Amino acid sequence: MSLTNDLTRTPVEPRTVTFGTVNATADYKALRALPADKYPEYFNRVYTLFTGLEFDVWSQIAQYEGEDKQWLAHALYLYGKNKDALPAGFDHTAAVARLINRATRRTAMPGAQDDAFEREVLRASGWVSAMLVSTLAPPDRGRTAKLSSIYNPPGQDRDVDGRQQVGPLRTDVLKELVDVLAKVVDEQLLHWVRPRSAPTEPESLDHLGRIADYLQKYVARVLGPYADAREDGPYFDGFRYSERLQSTWELPAGPVQRLNWMTNRAQAVGWDKERGALLAKANYDGTRDGDRETLRRMLGERLDSDESLSRRVHAMVKLTAAHSGGEGRISVQPIFPSATWGTKADWRWRVIRTLAHELMHRLAHPDFTATAGRIRHGQIVSEGFVDLLALDVYTRLWGLVSQSTAATEVLLKGVGATKAPDPSFLKVGYGEAGTSAAAVRDLMGDDRVRAAFFLGATHLVGLPSAQ
Ligand SMILES: [Zn+2]
Repeated sequence: MSLTNDLTRTPVEPRTVTFGTVNATADYKALRALPADKYPEYFNRVYTLFTGLEFDVWSQIAQYEGEDKQWLAHALYLYGKNKDALPAGFDHTAAVARLINRATRRTAMPGAQDDAFEREVLRASGWVSAMLVSTLAPPDRGRTAKLSSIYNPPGQDRDVDGRQQVGPLRTDVLKELVDVLAKVVDEQLLHWVRPRSAPTEPESLDHLGRIADYLQKYVARVLGPYADAREDGPYFDGFRYSERLQSTWELPAGPVQRLNWMTNRAQAVGWDKERGALLAKANYDGTRDGDRETLRRMLGERLDSDESLSRRVHAMVKLTAAHSGGEGRISVQPIFPSATWGTKADWRWRVIRTLAHELMHRLAHPDFTATAGRIRHGQIVSEGFVDLLALDVYTRLWGLVSQSTAATEVLLKGVGATKAPDPSFLKVGYGEAGTSAAAVRDLMGDDRVRAAFFLGATHLVGLPSAQ
């Protein structure tokens, strides 16, 4: 194996590779100077230094051939050169194991353009993720208190000292909410009703797949270094957005799915101030199991007793973009809505926004998502931040379309002339949940929000971590 000769060119060494606020050094001169017969001793010594384990790592590296071996030798060398910057307690054994696994699935060789090799190695090992989180300070006490009151809105009742508190759940107000929801279903369904003379027009799922893959790459660029730094996240587990896309018509829409749909809408509508903030008025507290169960039971009873509503909710499930959670499928509408909704170009922009939103669900760190059940207004976590980050991506897309014909070809193909997205799409959605997420970002800044969301560093935005 001759490392030197395998390189097509040698970029400047040493050089600095930057990931947002974090810098790494790339310099392989000493590795190239090392004679091949010294490799076993060298790598075994380095491995012991990293992990504290006496282990013949070379026998593992030696099983690889050609470029795989070259990749791994350079990767371990690069990692070793930058490992001292990592926070104490970082698991080097796991990082080295990830690199050994990565060698055969690598995407960039040493010497690749734009430091693509260094970017792959330092992200896939977990180095970037740990470094980014370690450079950010958690909120101080004052901010922690403010954040807590955002996540846990104070109730309407007063305790003996006159302080606001959350009183017992008011089911009479929840009943009002169920009635409001039934109206919302009608409003939304109206957009899909077409006059008999105008048949439903299909939207190309194949083309939406191309938009999806475009977005996956674009998000890494726009929300990097956070969005694509998770070592076991979608950018390293083989996730390809287009392959996970399906039509909403494929979604099951039985009693459980109808109830889930209603529960999700109840959160969005129920905290919405413009609709009377009925969940706040009802003293609803998402951290109380009983409250969640009561709301679900009341929605279920309504669906059971109101056959017409149940049918309409069935139709809405089949027409609502959804993310099935975890590594599941992402569903988008396979048709255009009626002209009363707007033009096809409007709808395409809307679908692009939806695709960005659903992608954020997939990119959210599981530790972040898990905090939804530990705060009173869980939808801030489950939807608010999702939409806030989707919007960060989305707002840049119009600029891209105005400048790049290639972007226009991918994003707006088949819907006629290019047209700016409707201004209402440029606001964070999900009512209070979205507004609250934006308030957290105002307090803590983009970096902390992104580190919490994509890397699971929930303490940086004052969210409770797992017990
Ligand atoms: Zn969502």
